[in-house]
Amino acid sequence: MTNMESSGIDRIVKELAKIVPEKYILTHIFERIKSSIDTFPYEAERRNLPYAIVMPKTKEEVSEILKYANRIRVPVFIRGSGTSFTGASRYQVPGIVINTHRMDEIEIYEEFGFFECGPGCICESVAKEIETRGFFLPFAPGSRLIASMGGLIANNTSAHVVDASIGKPGDYVLGLEVVLPNGEIIETGTKGLRRPAGTDLTKFFVGGDGLFGMVTKIRMRLVPAFEMAYGIAIYKDLKSLAKGVQRIYRERRPLPLFMEFMEKKTAEIGYKIKGLEIPKGSVILFVSIGNSKEGASQIANQILSSLVAENPIEAQQIEEVELWEKLWSSREVIGSYLMQESGNQWSSAEVVSNLMKLEECMDDASHFNYDLPVLSQLTLYLFGHIGGLTMHPGVIIPKEWDNEKKKRAVDEKFQREAELNLKYSTCGGEWGQFAKRTPFFIKRYGKESYELVKKIKKTFDPNNILNPGVLEGEPQQ
Ligand SMILES: Cc1cc2nc3c(=O)[nH]c(=O)nc-3n(C[C@H](O)[C@H](O)[C@H](O)COP(=O)(O)OP(=O)(O)OC[C@H]3O[C@@H](n4cnc5c(N)ncnc54)[C@H](O)[C@@H]3O)c2cc1C
Repeated sequence: MTNMESSGIDRIVKELAKIVPEKYILTHIFERIKSSIDTFPYEAERRNLPYAIVMPKTKEEVSEILKYANRIRVPVFIRGSGTSFTGASRYQVPGIVINTHRMDEIEIYEEFGFFECGPGCICESVAKEIETRGFFLPFAPGSRLIASMGGLIANNTSAHVVDASIGKPGDYVLGLEVVLPNGEIIETGTKGLRRPAGTDLTKFFVGGDGLFGMVTKIRMRLVPAFEMAYGIAIYKDLKSLAKGVQRIYRERRPLPLFMEFMEKKTAEIGYKIKGLEIPKGSVILFVSIGNSKEGASQIANQILSSLVAENPIEAQQIEEVELWEKLWSSREVIGSYLMQESGNQWSSAEVVSNLMKLEECMDDASHFNYDLPVLSQLTLYLFGHIGGLTMHPGVIIPKEWDNEKKKRAVDEKFQREAELNLKYSTCGGEWGQFAKRTPFFIKRYGKESYELVKKIKKTFDPNNILNPGVLEGEPQQ
């Protein structure tokens, strides 16, 4: 850092300290590095480290920070927990990071049928808080122990929830409080339980990839908890597994809330960790829902009747809750186990099939890396949210690879992901649409669509203050 830069940073910190207590402005090099890395396996560039990390508590403070940033034309990056999988939390220029974690209030208005929370609330804390009162948070990412509500709403990700079963989180967002990039504060939506018909500004910010404003409060409908039943099916090959899933849709079964799969080799890892007998094939685990235990169980049987038609090695309901929890967590632990065992970094793609070509798409996903110069050197693992026709082919990136090789590996992953989602006319249903995915967005929806998003961004953010780089896309190698 040169002297010029140091004095500039001092000035910024001094001005920020007029808005937020000084102890909530972090400038230590450790904090600056921590706040600019994400899930990618390579290091942050020193030249892009943020000047300062500021932790506001109120919408007014956020507004003042953004007004100040506009005056001096310094970028502002909104940061929840920095667990983005697309590079949205990997900054390409220095700026001020707004860390949302002090905005962590949650208020439950049972009598009105909704709750409100700050963007810095952790997903798991919100889920637990409302679950104890008999409600269900309608999304469930693998990152729920760490990801923020603001980050999840910016992505509008259903995560493990089957979209076609109960919809996306955005379907439950009744309204938002948002600070626009110029510092203006707006409210969207309603405090009733009927969402607005017609123009509803909520839609710009739910799934807005953090481009159009900072969400400072989220109001969501309280969804009564469901009764659940659990089921498993094990198939000799992925082809029959795919056909089983297609049947569920074709035979118009009530869709499961969750339906995960693990290819055999990948399932073995999770089963072993959980002390389960090694499965004889690739595994489907699903959760059906109903108003009563019997209702959920009847639906599970209907789902099983479609799965059974494709000759699984085994297909049944799981009634013993302890066994179910072991099975379910066998799917959850795979990525973290592989990382912890080796100290290396997990990296996966999101390949989404259309219904008709699921068999072919699964085959492509299971050969995801076979001809890629860098990624073919690594073992491929395959699992995903098969009820949502989503597959996560993944690899473990060795820590001893140099930064450049790791970057090439990540770029190869996004390029292959894009090829496959173009081939199947789909797109990522999780993780957001831009940053590393910008080239895909342009190919998938055309230059005109991309230019339109740019124009919308310019309308909201004429100085391109908020999260610059996300829409432009992180440069590929
Ligand atoms: C182990 C692991 C498992 C994961 N599993 C899943 C999964 O199952 N499904 C899934 O979809 N993703 C998953 N992810 C990815 C990630 O958790 C999600 O993308 C999540 O939505 C990001 O939340 P975050 O708080 O970390 O957001 P960040 O990474 O901090 O931010 C993501 C984007 O949202 C913007 N943003 C954050 N807060 C706000 C706000 N208040 N207002 C406006 N914009 C905002 C940021 O500026 C950025 O552009 C996983 C990640 C990990 C590490």
